[in-house]
Amino acid sequence: LIYKHYKASYRKTLYLFMTSAIFSSVALGITYYFFPTYVSQNLVYYTVLIPIQNFFGLWLLMSLFSKCVSDKELFIRHAQNEKIQTMSHVAASLAHEVRNPLTAVKGFLKLIQESPENLVKVDQYIRISLDEIQRTEAILTEYLAISKPLKERHELINVCELLHAIREVMLPFANMYNVELELQAFEKPVKIKANPDEFKQVLVNFIKNAIEACSDISDGKVTLGLLIERNKALLVIKDNGVGMDAGQISRLGTIYFSTKSSGTGLGLTYSYHVIHAIGGSVNVSSKPRVGTKFTIMLPYKAQ
Ligand code: ADP
Ligand code: MG
Repeated sequence: LIYKHYKASYRKTLYLFMTSAIFSSVALGITYYFFPTYVSQNLVYYTVLIPIQNFFGLWLLMSLFSKCVSDKELFIRHAQNEKIQTMSHVAASLAHEVRNPLTAVKGFLKLIQESPENLVKVDQYIRISLDEIQRTEAILTEYLAISKPLKERHELINVCELLHAIREVMLPFANMYNVELELQAFEKPVKIKANPDEFKQVLVNFIKNAIEACSDISDGKVTLGLLIERNKALLVIKDNGVGMDAGQISRLGTIYFSTKSSGTGLGLTYSYHVIHAIGGSVNVSSKPRVGTKFTIMLPYKAQ
């Protein structure tokens, strides 16, 4: 009853005071009805101490509650910024990747222009050019699908297909850091129920971290794997990068934990949240200077 007014009002303390007064007098009335002598014997306690206690209790509750709400809003805003930042890093490397096929297609068009009479060659050049364009188009489509705002929907997604698509998108980023990105996927369809937008973002976060962990290593390699074990789909992201010590591992997924100069420490917080929400879990094993292995366990629908 009072909440609507409370929310709109600037005089929140007054509303808290009024609420605690009503609250206290109802309790006092009931107590007096059943135990009149008891109340009159402890009059100060019932008419002063209890209302004051109620007022402070309510005040504390409301302050903590408002703080939680604003923390949560802050987190959501940061998570959105993190997504934009992540995707802009990936976009920078993507620009390179789009230039390569463009250069190739330009070269083939020139060759066609020089000798249009050699139909066999012309046909071959056109075929290669079309392949290049198609591949670039697929990468861009996938990139746009990942970077668009999240939509609330859960559907069955084929993890193998998704891994192939994400690998295509992340390959330029890996190339930029001179890191090999290998995929050892289970070829049969593995379907899980999740929000595809969220799940793609989760994979991008893990793979981007793994590539970044290998950035200072000469033969950096990130391996993506998928296997099935006892009704769980296990998604493995392994790298031979900097690794983590026990202290760092225990802080993984906690908000704002980052060891990077320009890191936000929100990527894994968000990812863990999404994975737990679909009934999955994450297992980490890591050794400093050896590498890290993240295993994401997901409940899946057997075919
Ligand atoms: P950010 O990437 O912005 O730092 P994340 O939440 O994605 O934030 O990651 C948090 C931290 O976890 C990283 O700063 C890093 O120290 C550690 N981390 C995550 N993945 C790996 C990995 N594959 N190898 C080593 N450290 C990692
Ligand atoms: Mg990250």
